[in-house]
Amino acid sequence: QQNTTESKTDTSFVSRMIAEKRQVLILFGSQTGTAEEVAGRLAKDLVRYGKKALVMDPEEIEADDFEKITKIENPLLILCVATYGEGDPTDNAQALYEHVTNNEIDLTGVKYAVFALGNKTYEHFNAVGKVFDSRLEELGATRVYEIGLGDDDANLEEDFMRWREGFLPSLAATFGWELSNDGSSDRQYRLEIVEDPAAAVFKGEYGRIGAFEKQRPPFDQKNPFLSKVVAHSELHTPASERNCKHIEFSLEGSHIRYEAGDHLAVFPTNDSTLVERLGKLIDIDLSVVFKLINTDEESSKRHPFPCPCSYQTALTHYVDICAPVKSHVLKALVEYTTDEEQKKTLTLLSSASEEGLHKYSQFVGKERRSIVDILEYFDTCKPPIDYLLELLPRLQARYYSISSSPKKDSTNVSITAVLTKYNIGDRLIKGVCTNYLNGLSVGSPSPIFVRKSTMRLPHRTITPIICIGPGTGLAPFRGFLQEKAWQKAQGKEIGDIVLFFGCRTPEKDYIYQNELEQYKSDGIITDLHLAFSRYTDKKVYVQDLLWENRERVFDLIQNKNANIYVCGDARNMARDVQNTFLKMFVELGGVEADAAQTQFKQLERMRRYQADVWS
Ligand code: FAD
Ligand code: NAP
Repeated sequence: QQNTTESKTDTSFVSRMIAEKRQVLILFGSQTGTAEEVAGRLAKDLVRYGKKALVMDPEEIEADDFEKITKIENPLLILCVATYGEGDPTDNAQALYEHVTNNEIDLTGVKYAVFALGNKTYEHFNAVGKVFDSRLEELGATRVYEIGLGDDDANLEEDFMRWREGFLPSLAATFGWELSNDGSSDRQYRLEIVEDPAAAVFKGEYGRIGAFEKQRPPFDQKNPFLSKVVAHSELHTPASERNCKHIEFSLEGSHIRYEAGDHLAVFPTNDSTLVERLGKLIDIDLSVVFKLINTDEESSKRHPFPCPCSYQTALTHYVDICAPVKSHVLKALVEYTTDEEQKKTLTLLSSASEEGLHKYSQFVGKERRSIVDILEYFDTCKPPIDYLLELLPRLQARYYSISSSPKKDSTNVSITAVLTKYNIGDRLIKGVCTNYLNGLSVGSPSPIFVRKSTMRLPHRTITPIICIGPGTGLAPFRGFLQEKAWQKAQGKEIGDIVLFFGCRTPEKDYIYQNELEQYKSDGIITDLHLAFSRYTDKKVYVQDLLWENRERVFDLIQNKNANIYVCGDARNMARDVQNTFLKMFVELGGVEADAAQTQFKQLERMRRYQADVWS
């Protein structure tokens, strides 16, 4: 979820809603900020009907208080909830999710609607949104509009636009609301320029001014630790057309603990050349210090990001200037565009008509046009910087599988990141965080925090493990291997380790080759299977070698209680690997496909099959 500064914790949202005469509560379950953004956009939409919604992070309400929503007159609850991992709620919605699913509360009289955010690449597509949607009905609440299912694998923005297009008029009909304005120029924040040169200003901190000079644990999303890079090296050979970095961050003095399998969150900054370009496009002095102040004084979010700060700081640290621009931003830009043709195109791109959605999906979605691209393309569009800063989403931390074990070295933590860089037409697009990571060097400061994961080595050291991790999917297994080597050095008996690693060719992107070969010759890795996809005439993938070695793998699973771990690409690899296991269970277990599926689910439930995959 996004970091909000100076947010008040309100355990009694109901008394607030009553006092502030608010009928609508919008809760967001957000991990990367999208659900929060969608929630904010819906709140703005409701202003057009003269309704002030209360937008809240469910973490800020006591789950036990939730049913008190019935005390509000004719209440409307809107949930914007993302599904994360293996069908899990986001961290901030966890308590509410458990409360609602495990308790027989009475929500009679509450009207509700759910917009779910998920990704079809994953098995449990929008599971959390669907559970909330059906459970609220079971608890007596009335659904006022069908659930929206946003798919980030295709075009979530389009899904949201379509849903909202039907949702708003339907709400108006249900509640008898009338449109009071078209909402296009509604401002949520007002600008205040800070002239005092002695004023304390944010320079990239997330919680409080000076947080990086005087660091105070605990370190988390809202208060990351300013670590120092202690190692930074290239893992691909010069022959590779790509780059993959091994980066170690110091944890010294942080009291941060981690375990092999956890994730490291890295807070990137935007490329300084893009910030400069944007500054020139809208002709601003980047050094100006300002504040954006919420015009809704009752709102718990006073500023959209840490304020006061300079435009340079805001554009560098706090807002996302690289993501494809959302349609509501395009809509807002129309009024600041002078050329009639450009106005027309921007209007079309931001409309929910079939033609508009199609054009948006191509021009912005597929071709990934950022705000910088848009302002370059629509060169008569000159929005005020403060409005732009209000509209752009927050720059989010990125997560990386930790590729080290604290057993080897608890003062440092490492990640393994492949550089995202690609061309669309003649535009070179660089991934925000990997480009940032690429530019770091030993000694560079970098804000980080550790997020616990559920991927864990088995408790018993002798339990065999089967690890499948092509490309950067190897990352957590490097941590596992360090841990197993440590266990062995402690005199413990360790179980077999079967590792399937895949890359393009041994000469280009066989990362950590020396280490893997050393572990193999030391007898830590018992079976090392290398799948090279662009080395011979035949493409070889990890699942091909898994299939070739099925007798051995099946024996370990069936007779030695082995745990299976899969890490890396969620889009294709994870599914292909899973299907290979299912095929293996059918052939070697002598069962039907249904029974193999049940067996697989059983392994997942027992946490003997664990996946850490991303797309
Ligand atoms: P962004 O600026 O966020 O851009 C990435 C986006 O660009 C993608 O979402 C995609 O939509 C788009 N894109 C990428 N390539 C193309 C293309 N060729 N054509 C069109 N569009 C494209 N990454 C690692 O390298 N190592 C890890 O160990 C690792 N572990 C992860 C663990 C978890 C739990 C998660 C969720 C992700 C992990 N990732 C890992 C991915 C990582 O978090 C980032 O998503 C990745 O580094 C890209 O971030 P970025 O800011 O550089 O790119
Ligand atoms: P990679 O180098 O692209 O792939 C590693 C190996 O896996 C290659 O040999 C590749 O072969 C192979 N492979 C491709 N499809 C496969 C499949 N269906 N099953 C098994 N193996 C397959 O890996 P990476 O760069 O480390 O990235 C891992 C994954 O993370 C990527 O696939 C990508 O989805 C994801 N990722 C996303 C971002 C992002 O921007 N969101 C950034 C980085 C990585 P071929 O390539 O020869 O087919």
